[in-house]
Amino acid sequence: MPGIYLHIPYCRQACHYCDFHFSTNLKNKTAMVQAIVHELELRKDYFNSKEVNTIYFGGGTPSLLSESELGFLLENIHRLFPIASQAEITIECNPEDLSKKKINSLNTLHFNRLSIGIQTFNDGILKYTNRIHTGAEACQAVLDAQEKGFENITLDLMYALPKGTMETLQQDLDTLVSLNVPHLSAYCFTLEEKTVFGTWAKQKKLDKHGDDWEQKNYLQVQKHLAQHGYEQYEISNFARNGRYSRHNSSYWLGEHYLGIGPGAHSYNGTERQWNMRNNALYIQKLEKLTLAYESELLGQKEQLNELLLVQLRTKWGLNLDNIKSRFGFDFMDARKKEIHKLLKSNLLQLENNILYLTEKGKLLADAITVDLML
Ligand code: SF4
Repeated sequence: MPGIYLHIPYCRQACHYCDFHFSTNLKNKTAMVQAIVHELELRKDYFNSKEVNTIYFGGGTPSLLSESELGFLLENIHRLFPIASQAEITIECNPEDLSKKKINSLNTLHFNRLSIGIQTFNDGILKYTNRIHTGAEACQAVLDAQEKGFENITLDLMYALPKGTMETLQQDLDTLVSLNVPHLSAYCFTLEEKTVFGTWAKQKKLDKHGDDWEQKNYLQVQKHLAQHGYEQYEISNFARNGRYSRHNSSYWLGEHYLGIGPGAHSYNGTERQWNMRNNALYIQKLEKLTLAYESELLGQKEQLNELLLVQLRTKWGLNLDNIKSRFGFDFMDARKKEIHKLLKSNLLQLENNILYLTEKGKLLADAITVDLML
């Protein structure tokens, strides 16, 4: 079932590790919201009237939009696309935006899932990474959202952050688990060149932990969450009682999605499109009712590599029978040598003609994927 992603490219301030597309200059926010609606209008036939199952407001920081801006966007999505009655409607929020009043607004607007960016509860690390909120404020935001009836909440954790220790990680995990939400995402810190941390690293002012440290952190996250009933259904995603992210699962299972807003990507099975990552130019183009994307037709090889990239990381694995029926192509035959080597090294496992990463393989997921690509 298809999904719509809206990219809201604004943040109140820039976190030192983040290279997502966003601006801290909110001057053109209203024009941006209008431009996004123009793009929705121009692309309303993307799914050929198929019902949309998930809507995801990401960013950036969509929670900094006002109630009327969010309402305007949702109203137009409902006007232009057939939306399933039980659609999952998620909004990414930063803790500093989640006042009780804001939570009430999100409820009134019928968002039914909150994705709250926590990263860590440690005030020293939050400050060092230039996050706005404190650990206590993040906890309070989650408790307030739960009190106001939001049960479907996911929290983001970042591990192996500079200045982080095994003790701070354990404290983060204990606090996360105590908040009793159905879904958690845990991402390893990555040093990105075009960020403040990237500059500090070049100037030798920042010590990045090594691969061994990252693995140790990852194993600690995995173990602790498993002990508390969270199933790792994708390398970075954990859920209790099957409460998977429907939106992200649809990416991983190769469903079609429409990405609206600067920098957003779309995929219709055979073609990928990506919008320009420039807010001013995006607004200018859409004011003239011109779409602002580039695109690439995906041949069979690219489509297969795409599936491999997303599916191998999930608990559902890479189904070789499905590949054969969809592409008429024997993947096992094409990558026989590599697959046997990975099976022998206990990095992959083959069951009912489905390839899965083993626990050992999960530590080397990226390298294994590259090995298997066509
Ligand atoms: S981590 Fe989130 S809040 Fe921080 S700069 Fe990136 S998008 Fe904005």
